[in-house]
Amino acid sequence: MKEEVVVGLEVHIQLMTKAKMFCHCSTDYIGKDPNTNTCPVCLGLPGSLPVLNKKVLEFAIRTAVALNCKINQISRFHRKNYFYPDLPKAYQISQYDTPLGINGYMEISLPESKEKCRIGITRVHIEEDAGKLVHEGNIASSSYSLVDYNRCGIPLAEIVTEPDFRSPEEARIFLIKLRSIVQHLGVCDGNMEDGSMRCDANISLRDAKTGALGTKVEVKNMNSFKAVKKALQFEVNRQKKLLAEGEKIVQETRHWDESKNVTVSMRSKEEAHDYRYFPEPDLLPIKVDVKMIDNIRKCLPELPEARRERFIENYQITKYDAEILTSSKAIGDYYESAASIYKNSKTLSNWIMGELMRFLNEGKIEIEKSPISPANLVEMLKLIDEGVISGKMAKEVFEKMFKTGRDASQIVKESEIAQITDEDELFEVIDKVIKENSRSIEDFNKGKEKALNHLVGQVMRYTKGRAKPDFVFEAIKQRIKE
Ligand SMILES: [Zn+2]
Repeated sequence: MKEEVVVGLEVHIQLMTKAKMFCHCSTDYIGKDPNTNTCPVCLGLPGSLPVLNKKVLEFAIRTAVALNCKINQISRFHRKNYFYPDLPKAYQISQYDTPLGINGYMEISLPESKEKCRIGITRVHIEEDAGKLVHEGNIASSSYSLVDYNRCGIPLAEIVTEPDFRSPEEARIFLIKLRSIVQHLGVCDGNMEDGSMRCDANISLRDAKTGALGTKVEVKNMNSFKAVKKALQFEVNRQKKLLAEGEKIVQETRHWDESKNVTVSMRSKEEAHDYRYFPEPDLLPIKVDVKMIDNIRKCLPELPEARRERFIENYQITKYDAEILTSSKAIGDYYESAASIYKNSKTLSNWIMGELMRFLNEGKIEIEKSPISPANLVEMLKLIDEGVISGKMAKEVFEKMFKTGRDASQIVKESEIAQITDEDELFEVIDKVIKENSRSIEDFNKGKEKALNHLVGQVMRYTKGRAKPDFVFEAIKQRIKE
């Protein structure tokens, strides 16, 4: 049997409102003492009543509209019942059969094909987040767990896709674009490591010939784009192997173990009826009028795709470069800020995509916290243009700038790595080299132009790379002819 990979994603994004979803508590909880950002509503105390934060609705509609969804003018909240200590009410306020947005899509470009690939968005709905459990040591052997309700009631939008992905790589490309979209919309910071963007995946194998669907497995706990791809690839291989051995695939939820690079069975998968969904009696249905939707649509900011096209046109860079530079809002902002004060936009994108990204990745630093600001980078590029430093020296200077956060000009001044611009100083070295290499001069006089390369190399060695090779080459030629 030839199998086809079938993947669908469920992505939760934390909406960046100031207050929680149903109360006035602040959403700024990272680094705060446990259980300090709480009130009777988000703790689910008896007698307290939820009131929907209007900003949550606005942010979720913005997201759904950007994903080309139809907005339901009336949608409802449901209670999703399950008992777990991170959920004090023993139910989560979520949406069930009438979500906010439905039937959307997003287009992604795959590297191997010129055509865009359309991924269906089944629904976008809003729900509240649960608290956080901290287990002493390992969850299985821990003798007690601590609970922190600061995250309880933080607003989430859940984005569910159709099972339209045919490879783990497609899922990764989709997620990168989705993150860039929600960042540009200003509704979520998209930080997967901190959990403000979380992704679960459903994956199965289907018979390519008959189209018969295989059993679905849900994979959780992937907290980077790389992890999503690795976990899905592992599942594809695991399921293929089971089928080849004539085994059955069990419908279950599996947990991605980053340290061992495997998925591990967590529990058998729940069905919707396990949650005993019923309409939330404490909240009215959400009514959205057409005017509000139109207003939000009109005020949508520039999205990554439009920004990419603008970059190609305004800065004359390749599609590939523009794609990377708009893969996150912060990278795009960095590039534009530098490009506004520096004309050679291709050189600029090379440095950002090359050296800067490399150092940021190595140090696991976000570009917003880059020790080299756009203005600093431009100052260094201008030093290259003016001939003060060579491209090779610039890499050294760049590294020092990154490690110390100091300006390029300061570093160049103090470490004497500027190119020698004093001609007298340079001719002194050139004369010395000519004297020491009479053999090369003879070769040159016999017509071997290449013999000069050796001399240029010697000059570079004596000056520790601080001379301009082109200038040295011409200067030696001139001296020999004199
Ligand atoms: Zn609260």
